[in-house]
Amino acid sequence: MKIIIISNRLPVKIEKKNGAFRIKRSEGGLATGLGSLETKAEQYWIGWPGIHVEDEKEKAAITKRLHKMNFHPVFLSPEQIENYYEGYSNNVLWPLCHYFFSYIEYKAEYWKMYQQVNALFCSESLPFIEDDDIVWIQDYQLMLLPKMIRDERAGVSIGYFHHIPFPSYELFRVLPEREEVLQGLLGADLIGFHTHDYMRHFMSAIYRVLNLNSDLDEINLQNRVVHIDAFPMGINYEKYHQAPTLPAVEKKTNSLKRKLGNQTNILSVDRLDYSKGILHRVNGFAQFLEEHPEYHEKVSLAMIVVPSRDTVDRYAELKTSIDQAIGSINGRYSKPGWTPVHYFYRSFAFEELIALYHIAQIALVTPLRDGMNLVAKEYLATKREEAGVLILSEMAGAAIELSDAIIINPNDTEQIATAIVQALTMPEEEKRKRLDKMQTRISTQTVKKWANDFVTELEEIKILNKEIV
Ligand code: UDP
Repeated sequence: MKIIIISNRLPVKIEKKNGAFRIKRSEGGLATGLGSLETKAEQYWIGWPGIHVEDEKEKAAITKRLHKMNFHPVFLSPEQIENYYEGYSNNVLWPLCHYFFSYIEYKAEYWKMYQQVNALFCSESLPFIEDDDIVWIQDYQLMLLPKMIRDERAGVSIGYFHHIPFPSYELFRVLPEREEVLQGLLGADLIGFHTHDYMRHFMSAIYRVLNLNSDLDEINLQNRVVHIDAFPMGINYEKYHQAPTLPAVEKKTNSLKRKLGNQTNILSVDRLDYSKGILHRVNGFAQFLEEHPEYHEKVSLAMIVVPSRDTVDRYAELKTSIDQAIGSINGRYSKPGWTPVHYFYRSFAFEELIALYHIAQIALVTPLRDGMNLVAKEYLATKREEAGVLILSEMAGAAIELSDAIIINPNDTEQIATAIVQALTMPEEEKRKRLDKMQTRISTQTVKKWANDFVTELEEIKILNKEIV
C-alpha cells in the first residue's frame, strides 16, 4: 500500500541558475504533517512544481530528479495557470468560499480549463495508483479530481480535504457549476473540513443541490457511502514553542526589544488578501488611537503583510488602500520617537517571524473569513515565560478551538478598539490562565495529529468497505 498525496503545488522550490536546476524542499504545514505520518506506507506526492518549463528535455530532467524524492510533477502552461489557477480557483472558488461573492469573475474559459487541468492531474496520477493505495487530494483547486479518479479506479481509497471555508448553501448555490463540483467531491470516501460548521454547510448543499439523503456525517450513494468529518488543522507545536530559545532567534529578539524599548507591541501577520480584514483592522486601530490618547507613544502595531497575487487588480487596489490607510494614521498620530504602525510589505524568515511573535504582547488576528488561521496558533505556541493575549476574529476556523482568546466580530471596528484596551489592561493571572488553556489545546491538536487522524479514518473506511464487499 502507498499513500499518494495530490495537491495543486508540490512542496518544492525549483530555480534555474546558469542553466542548471536547483530543487529545494519547502516545509509548509501540510508537508510537516504528512512527513510525520505514523505509517510505514511509502508516500508519493503529485503536483505542479511551480515553474514553467517549455523544453521537453528539461521537463524530463526535472521529472527524473523529482522522482528520486518520490514527487511527480504536473507541468502546467501559462494559459492553464491563468485560467485554472488564477481564474476558476482564485477568482471564482476562493471569493465564493470566503463569502465575497460579488468579487467572483465568471469566464467560460475558467471553467473549461478547471475541468481540463483536473483531468490532467487525473491522467498524470493514474499510472501511480494501485488498487490497495490511499489517495489524499488537497484543496479547492482539485474538487473534480475525486470523481475522475473514482471513475478509473473504482476500488481505490480516496480522501479529500478542503482547506478553506465551505460556505452556506445560499452562497454556494450562486455557483453555476455547483452540481458538477459537488459530484466531483463525492468521488471520495472521506471528505474533511476544518470545522463542523463547514461540514454542516456542505451537507446542506448536498441535500439542496443534489437532493441526496444524508445522515449527520454520511452520504448514501447507490453503491457507496461517503463519510464527512471535521479535522481542525494544527501546527508543529514543539517547533514553534522551542524556537524562541534558538540562538539566532534570541539574537533577533534582543535586538528588537532594544529598539522598541518599553513600548507595548501589537502584531498582525497575513498574506495580502481581502478575506484577511486588513483594512478593518487598521481602522479599528485608528479608532483605538482616537479614543485613547493615553496610549499614544506607549503602544504600536507591527503589521506584516506578505505579498500575494499582487499582479491581480483587486489585490493591487487592496494594497494601495492599505498603504493609504496606514500612511494616514502615521501622518496623523506619529511623534518624534514613536510611529503608531510599523508596516512591512514582505515575507519574513522563520527566525525573524518567531522573534516578532515572541516579543508581541498582543496578536491582532481579525480575518473577515478564514478556513483556519495558523498564525493565531503559531503566535500562542511561541509564548513561554511571558504570556501574550490573542484577539481573534469569530470568522476564523481557529476561533472554535481558541475560545479563550478575546473573540471579536472583525466588521465592528469599535469592538476591535475595545478588545485592544481589554488586552492592554488584562491582569497577568488572567492572561496566563487563558494562554495555558489554549496552549494545551494546540499542543495536542497538532498538524501531525491532523494528518494521522485523517489517514487513520480513511484506512478504517477502507477496511469497512472491504467487509461490505
Ligand atoms: N508566514 C510565512 N512567512 C511570513 C509570514 C507568515 O511563511 O513572512 C506563514 C505563517 O507562519 C503561517 C502561514 O504563512 O504558517 C499563513 O497561514 P494562515 O493559515 O494563517 O493563512 P493563509 O495564508 O494560509 O491563508
